[in-house]
Amino acid sequence: MSRLVLATKNPGKVLEIKEILRNLPLEVVALSAYGDIPDIQEDGETFEDNAICKALATAKATGEVALADDSGLEVDALHGAPGVHSARFAGEDLPRGRERDKTNYEKLLSLLKGIEDAKRTARFRCVVAIAAPSGKVRLAEGICEGKIAIAPDGCGGFGYDPVFIPLGYTRSFAALPQDVKNAMSHRAVALKAALPLIEEFFQLS
Ligand code: IMP
Repeated sequence: MSRLVLATKNPGKVLEIKEILRNLPLEVVALSAYGDIPDIQEDGETFEDNAICKALATAKATGEVALADDSGLEVDALHGAPGVHSARFAGEDLPRGRERDKTNYEKLLSLLKGIEDAKRTARFRCVVAIAAPSGKVRLAEGICEGKIAIAPDGCGGFGYDPVFIPLGYTRSFAALPQDVKNAMSHRAVALKAALPLIEEFFQLS
């Protein structure tokens, strides 16, 4: 069976991606199956740059077609920030995890202090890149519109989930059931848009 390598070491993302791709006749494997491939730098100016860089580096390192995603939060009142800097918004030095997530969303809430509900609009954006060892690359994008809460709500999810209220809901992503988030998230939308591109790479259609 043909193989698609996921250019991520995040187990949560691997599960979410495998679930969405489950009907394709492909062996979907995580990068961790290849042993100690070093982390790829994410220092591009755009989600597209980062996703392409990760997918191409993984395809070349493994010799297989690879899929990478890059995502973040864009807040209108902050002119699109934190954007590509979402993961390290509150500083470069904090290790990945709950503490860094909390510091990031607390910084966001303090920057938006006093801003009225109607002006707290925001979106999660995700870009998926699929790359072959030959250098061929295709992109797909997913957006999830919403707004930034006044205060954190809920304890599920990760990242900015406690302060992001998706359009049409009154609770945050962290307070909504995981399957509700997974059905409408920016990653789910981008991955569904990527399905025909993956079929094209493997000539499945
Ligand atoms: P990456 O795509 O894993 O590099 O994500 C970059 C950063 O964007 C994460 O560290 C989070 O802070 C934020 N982010 C991306 N997707 C989500 C999400 O679904 N919920 C909450 N935060 C997210």
